[in-house]
Amino acid sequence: MSKVPSFWSPRIAGLEPYVPGEQPRIANLVKLNTNENPYPPSPRAIDAICAAAESGLQLYPDPESTRLREAIAIRHGLDSKQVFAGNGSDEVLAHAFFAFFQQAEPLLIPDVTYSFYRVYAQLYDIACELHAVDDALRIDDAALAARAAAGCAGIVIANPNAPTGIGLPLSRIEALLGACPDRVVLVDEAYVDFGAESALPLIARYPNLLVVQTLSKSRSLAGLRLGFACGQAHLIDALQRVKNSFNSYPIDRLACAGAIAALEDEAWFAKTRDDIVDTREGLVLQLEDLGFEVLPSQANFLFVRHPGHDAAELAASLRARAVLVRHFKQPRIAQYLRITIGTRDQCTTLVGALADILPAH
Ligand SMILES: *Cc1c(COP(=O)(O)O)cnc(C)c1O
Repeated sequence: MSKVPSFWSPRIAGLEPYVPGEQPRIANLVKLNTNENPYPPSPRAIDAICAAAESGLQLYPDPESTRLREAIAIRHGLDSKQVFAGNGSDEVLAHAFFAFFQQAEPLLIPDVTYSFYRVYAQLYDIACELHAVDDALRIDDAALAARAAAGCAGIVIANPNAPTGIGLPLSRIEALLGACPDRVVLVDEAYVDFGAESALPLIARYPNLLVVQTLSKSRSLAGLRLGFACGQAHLIDALQRVKNSFNSYPIDRLACAGAIAALEDEAWFAKTRDDIVDTREGLVLQLEDLGFEVLPSQANFLFVRHPGHDAAELAASLRARAVLVRHFKQPRIAQYLRITIGTRDQCTTLVGALADILPAH
């Protein structure tokens, strides 16, 4: 047997890449595993994408995504110099890690949070210090601020946090910003529209604040890949430098047109968001009736556990009934399931399947 030589560099061989939730092709699947929006995007976004497809695809897009950044700036009361746009917020996050966190001290992140943060840190050789959430899976922000004041490369938190759904009020975010004024505090607001307080209004006062948002969840555009960061211009300039050293055209013409139209359709956004929040509140009660403990969620998902049932087994039983939820085989959260809020019908199917699986209660 001849041995195939490894062409991988040692760095690549040592990476532990992020594993996204599965996207299986199963008929009539109730897909509650990747926090996608169950509703389609604004019809105005689809029209804009079709129109963009019919003219100009032979040309490169605007490398600066000027019109899109203006639309984001207008929506949030910022200047377009305070907005950076990227191919999904995952790309924006990666650029931010590269731009800000390669420092002598460690980067601080909660031990229960979006697992991609540790992957970026590994990719860019950034030392991470995991800050323990408490037994209720809440970020101990006072302890985190005290730790940050002693010296760090920066702080990354998701607000509301993933996969817990628990939000931190703005006053607590401000305390973190004040604790390390010389380092960037990155607040990932992927789910903020479903009920948490955005830190965007703090940008004018905090030169170290970077807020990252996405159109994947609350704007129903996960398939379009559009994320953005907001912060003072000096932070945005750093992200532009990384982007222009990596890919000048991360946002294609279709994505740009669709994103602008989606941002302008406030009525569609508000209606679909309100439906999801209403459905969430109803589902909390139904799951509690079935004996689940449900963490307080300000997101489009619930993080739940059942004292009498193993989470991995529950996920497998649901899968056998064509209902997909997310289970993380990770320390501290292995007995939890993360359930995306679907349509009312999808949630009814979920509750029916659970009632079927759980012995009479
Ligand atoms: C979904 C999610 C993202 C990624 O969003 P994209 O814009 O689709 O890349 C980032 N952060 C958190 C916490 C998320 O849950």
